[in-house]
Amino acid sequence: MIIQLEKDIAAPQLAALQQKLADINYQTNQINTQFGDYIVGIGKRDFDIRAIGTLDGVRDIHKVSDAYKLVSKKWKVKDTVIDLGDGVNIGTGHFQMMAGPCSIESEEQINDTIQLLKANNIKIMRGGVYKPRSSPYSFRGLGIDGLKLWHQLAKEAGIKIITEVMMSEQIEAMYDYVDIFQVGARNSQNFNLLDALGKVDKPVLLKRGISGTLNELLQAAEYIFSNGNEKIMLCERGIRSYETAYRNTFDINAIAILKEKTHLPVIADPSHGIGLRAYIEPIALASIMAGADGVIFEAHHTPEKAFSDGQQTLNNEQASNLFRKMRRTYMLREELK
Ligand code: PEP
Ligand code: MN
Repeated sequence: MIIQLEKDIAAPQLAALQQKLADINYQTNQINTQFGDYIVGIGKRDFDIRAIGTLDGVRDIHKVSDAYKLVSKKWKVKDTVIDLGDGVNIGTGHFQMMAGPCSIESEEQINDTIQLLKANNIKIMRGGVYKPRSSPYSFRGLGIDGLKLWHQLAKEAGIKIITEVMMSEQIEAMYDYVDIFQVGARNSQNFNLLDALGKVDKPVLLKRGISGTLNELLQAAEYIFSNGNEKIMLCERGIRSYETAYRNTFDINAIAILKEKTHLPVIADPSHGIGLRAYIEPIALASIMAGADGVIFEAHHTPEKAFSDGQQTLNNEQASNLFRKMRRTYMLREELK
């Protein structure tokens, strides 16, 4: 059950509400976010919700029996649109493309990517400065100094930054230089990190775990929301399957299903989803038709020389073509609605 409170609910009204919930053996959690105050009630007994809905200080009440609640569309029918500032929004009706290298490598590479994005009117650049690598001997990123340099160059160009945070201890140092915190597939159920990101007022792109179910992804998002941050995007990036012909199995079903289950924006990552450069384009376009609110992919001026994930990275010409085709595909999807 979700109870939306009036912003100015008085202490005695809140106490009366809590008492009523205690009387029916409901365990309650009060949640205050940037946008609203809520009580999430967990309990077994069926009862007439009007008995609570009519109490003073209650704005609205909804029965939601799923394991995830606040991120569910069962109570918030209107989709969430995340405002990144400067007229950049993500969510239903606000399709966004994000691109950039797997890893931030050098000033020259950052500048080249910014030029690519500007030439295509793209507002958000991706790149990792803390890289989760399967082998400890692989390149692990330029760290906070790389992020500061990137931020300085991106800010001058009016480009926003999405980058991965791997540990809650990194959040504070990264905060001023990041527009969207990315939670990687390997950290999708790092509940301490999710709790910590719930306490910041910056958008979070949460990737699906390597073998995560959609329920697990939605519950991971619930961690962030229930800690106070409603600015969450979910990202399909492929799951581990028995197939070895490509890196991951991109689950296009997930995009359509998530759009149905949650009000949060859903983003597709075809680069990690299939892991092979030749197929990024069809998978990106297919995910738009499946309902994605955005696509994030890897681009580099010389993919063959990229420090990481070169095999799935597009060069500038391929990236420019993909931006153009994605815009057309999005327009077609909207036309077909
Ligand atoms: C990345 O975006 O570069 C990345 C490491 O992604 P994932 O967590 O999906 O593997
Ligand atoms: Mn990568």
